[in-house]
Amino acid sequence: MLQKFNPLNKDLQIWVKDRLYHRSEAKVSVFDSVVQGGDAVWEGLRIYKGGIFVLDRHLDRLMSSAKAMHFQNVPTREEITAAVKETLKANNMTDGVHVRLTLTRGEKITSGMDPRLNQMGCTLIIVPEYKAPVYDNEHGIKIITSSIRRNSPAHLDSKIHHNNLINNILAKIESNVAGADAALMLDAYGFASELNGTNIFMSKKGILYTPFADACLPGITRGLILEIAKEEGMEIYEKNLSLTELYSADEVFCTGTMGELTPIKSIDDRLIENENGIKTMPQLIKAFEAKIPEYSVRI
Ligand code: PMP
Repeated sequence: MLQKFNPLNKDLQIWVKDRLYHRSEAKVSVFDSVVQGGDAVWEGLRIYKGGIFVLDRHLDRLMSSAKAMHFQNVPTREEITAAVKETLKANNMTDGVHVRLTLTRGEKITSGMDPRLNQMGCTLIIVPEYKAPVYDNEHGIKIITSSIRRNSPAHLDSKIHHNNLINNILAKIESNVAGADAALMLDAYGFASELNGTNIFMSKKGILYTPFADACLPGITRGLILEIAKEEGMEIYEKNLSLTELYSADEVFCTGTMGELTPIKSIDDRLIENENGIKTMPQLIKAFEAKIPEYSVRI
């Protein structure tokens, strides 16, 4: 499931700091904090039918990540929103688009770790691309358990959506080597945390479960599913989930802006077999799709 270059993206206009550039000219300084230390926070957004989906929630998470990282001179929500809209308009984009929004601590006056060397304000990068959901949501994906553990708040709080993605990338390499589509990362205690780039859910006899957001990213899609399930009158719990519980679940699926809701067909070669025949995913997907217009901000 390796993404391919989409020719529709060949002449993208990309926002860097305070203006748009053609993709061939869009660059950050070698003194930028993202180059020096992966010192940046980010969001992935989706554009559906002329609207930016759950923009407010993405801005909440971006702002709280920037605050936790003690960024200074952070652009306001209004400034970021205006830049996202201007970028989409410049590209004439209204649907089928994914936006990678990155906010770095900014350019440094000299190389070094110290944030006091950042005296030029943050760098805002907005990369919009035509991109369909990245997983095979019809047939599902195959995953393996990674030997790389997801950070606990004792090490690096997973509630900061930062650009130090090395642990997730190492997990993804393990899944590539194993010929799988994604890697399941456990927490420090051996409970499931999340996949390398998405959150995980399971159902058993019609009851839904997802890990506590202690070591996983509190995904926006994860939050929506928790809300939607309750609105639909379904039973849903956050809970420590062991691998055995996942192997013998009726349904397992992952959630994220990149892939939306994706069924997981096997974990470590254990097939996910729905012996009860009770399915929650179709109802959740229908309710999720129904939320899109209501939860989107017009471009
Ligand atoms: N987990 C990780 C590690 C991620 O990088 C992402 C995507 N940003 C997610 C989960 C899914 O989060 P969201 O639903 O907000 O896209």
